[in-house]
Amino acid sequence: MARGSQTKAAIKRLVKRLAMAPGRFWPCRGSRILTYHSVGTRSHEMNVTPGMFERQMAWLAGHGGVVNLCGAAEGTGIAITFDDGYRDNLVNAAPVLRDCGFTATCFIVPGRMGGVLDHDRQESRPASDACVLMTWKEAASWREMGFEIGAHTMGHRRLSQCPAQEQYAEITDCARAIQQHLGVFPEAFAYPFGSSGDYDRTSVRLVQEAGFAYAVSNRYGVNGAARDRWALRRIWIDATDDMSMFRAKVEGRLDVLSVLDSDWGVRGRRVLNRLLKTS
Ligand SMILES: [Zn+2]
Repeated sequence: MARGSQTKAAIKRLVKRLAMAPGRFWPCRGSRILTYHSVGTRSHEMNVTPGMFERQMAWLAGHGGVVNLCGAAEGTGIAITFDDGYRDNLVNAAPVLRDCGFTATCFIVPGRMGGVLDHDRQESRPASDACVLMTWKEAASWREMGFEIGAHTMGHRRLSQCPAQEQYAEITDCARAIQQHLGVFPEAFAYPFGSSGDYDRTSVRLVQEAGFAYAVSNRYGVNGAARDRWALRRIWIDATDDMSMFRAKVEGRLDVLSVLDSDWGVRGRRVLNRLLKTS
């Protein structure tokens, strides 16, 4: 991991440690949708190791289990999602989920199946096998194991930076490709990158018109009575979460982190990323 990424990881750990004590006074009611990316060996802040993933799932199994994403969209329970469709989700995460009797949703990028996302290629030259995404055949295996597939656009572009016509193609072509290759229309959509500045009102309207049932963002937080069905909040789980932080996130002792997705929080994170030259 580059020095900037190491510094960012240290800051994230510190913020979480500092937030946990006062955070216990601010737990919110509602569903918590966990966001994972790769579950493997790559050295990246969004990666969770297979061993840590297994420990996290074992803890969830002993504390009430999980619901499917549709249930979480209704505002109750804990759901598990994976963004981008890394091959290691099928290899490392799926067997653990199956052993726990859990369901999960993986948001795939049809225009990159079997390949590598642009930002992974830029960060890791040459792109390592650890960044490779599932093929269609592997996505079909994921479904055959009882898990769900969701849509994450055709090419993983930042929708807010695309004209409406390109947003339309990114969203509708993605749903169509999933239906063609897997024989099922995806119920759920995930905005790429997913912070408030990464999608706009046009994106939300196009997702509604495309026929999805609901959509998830990557804005941190809980989905309570006032939840937005077209931009459900999620809880990031990443390499900087030890078990105490994971439990705090699931139990609501870190719901206070939703301030990081306020307008000021997003601005602050962008400044930090620029200073550290991270993404
Ligand atoms: Zn993504």
